[in-house]
Amino acid sequence: MKKETTIRDIKSLTLVELSEQFRDQNLPAFRAKQVYQWLYRGAVSFEEMSDLPKNLRVTLAEKYYISVANIEKKLVSDYDNTVKYLFSFPDGQCVESVVMHYHHGVSICISTQVGCKMGCTFCATGKSGFSRHLTASEMIAQIQAAQQDLDLRISNVVLMGMGEPLDNYENVLRFLELVSSETGLHIGMRHISLSTCGVVNRIYDLAKHKFQLTLSVSLHAPNDLIRSRIMPINHKWGVDQLLAACRHYADATGRRISFEYAMMDGVNDSDACAVELAARLRGTLSHVNLIPVNDVTGAGYRKSSPVRVERFCKTLEKYGVTATVRRTLGADINASCGQLRRRQKEEVANVERSKFK
Ligand code: SAH
Ligand code: SF4
Repeated sequence: MKKETTIRDIKSLTLVELSEQFRDQNLPAFRAKQVYQWLYRGAVSFEEMSDLPKNLRVTLAEKYYISVANIEKKLVSDYDNTVKYLFSFPDGQCVESVVMHYHHGVSICISTQVGCKMGCTFCATGKSGFSRHLTASEMIAQIQAAQQDLDLRISNVVLMGMGEPLDNYENVLRFLELVSSETGLHIGMRHISLSTCGVVNRIYDLAKHKFQLTLSVSLHAPNDLIRSRIMPINHKWGVDQLLAACRHYADATGRRISFEYAMMDGVNDSDACAVELAARLRGTLSHVNLIPVNDVTGAGYRKSSPVRVERFCKTLEKYGVTATVRRTLGADINASCGQLRRRQKEEVANVERSKFK
C-alpha cells in the first residue's frame, strides 16, 4: 500500500489540535507546547528547536512543514516610514503586505488570497484574477516576517490586502483564532479589522461568533445602479441586502460598522450621492471612511478633488452620519494593497524616490 505522504501545515493548527495529533501519532504530547512556542516565536525550521530531542526534530520535519513568507521586495516610504512588502511562498505565489506606523502602534495590512475573484473595476487585485486561497499559517507568516524584519511588535492587523477574506472564510476564521489566541500571536480582536466587498451570507455567519473585531464594508456607492457598475458582487447581493446584513452584524456584536467609500470623480461623489448614502445609513451603527480613489486599473477613475471630498463629508455629517477623510500613508510607494503585484514594472520607476532594498 502507498505510504501516507501528505505533509501537514503545522502553523495552521491550534495548540489543542497539535497536542491531539501528537497523542494520535504516539509523539510526546507535552512537547507540543514547546514546539508551539517555537513556532510563535518565529522559528522557520524544526532544526532550530534546540531544546527538543534530535530524533523528534527529524520526525517532525518528516510529518510537518512550517509556513514562511519570504521577502521578495521591500519598499520604504520616505514620507512616513510605511513599509510595503512583496512576500513569496514556496510555490512561487506572491502577496503584498503593508506596515504602517501610527501613534497608537504599528499596524499591518495583510493579504488573504493570491488575487481575488470579485473583479471590482477600480481594484488592481481584482483586475489580475484569482490564483489561490492563503492558508491561516500563510496569513500568520506575513505578520511574523514583518515583525522579524523590522524588529518590532505589531499591535494591529487589518485584513485589507489582496483578496476577499470572506471568500476564504474557513481559513480566515482559523487565522482569527490563531492571531488572537494567547498561545498564538496574542493580538486582541479589538485590534483586528476585516474588510469585505459584501459577501452577505458570510457576514451573517461571522456575526454568530460575536467577535469584537471591526468589520469594514467596501460600499463605494449609495445605490445599486452605481454599485453594480463598479462591483460585480452587487449583482448577487444588492445594497439593501448588504445593509440589512450590516445592521444585523452591528446588532449581534454591538460593534460599529466601518463603511469604505472610494471617491471617484463624477461616478459616486455628487451631493445627491451623499444625501442618498446618508439616508440609507442613518440609524445604523456606522462610520464612513472617505478615500480618494487610486487610479490603478487604467479604467479611467480619477480621484475626486479635495474640495469635493470635504463637501461630501460635510453633507454626510449634516444628515447625521459620521465620516472622516482617510489620510493616505505611503503615497510614494503606492502603499494601497493590491497594487504592487500588478504594477511591478511601473513601481520600479516610482521607487526612485524611495529606498529600495
Ligand atoms: N476584498 C476586500 C479587502 C481587500 S480590498 C474588500 O474589498 O473590502 C481593500 C480595500 O481597498 C477595499 O475597501 C477596496 O474597495 C479598496 N480599494 C481597492 N482598490 C482601490 C483603489 N483603486 N482606490 C481606493 N481604494 C481601493
Ligand atoms: Fe477583491 Fe476587494 Fe479588490 Fe474587490 S476591492 S477585487 S473584493 S480585493
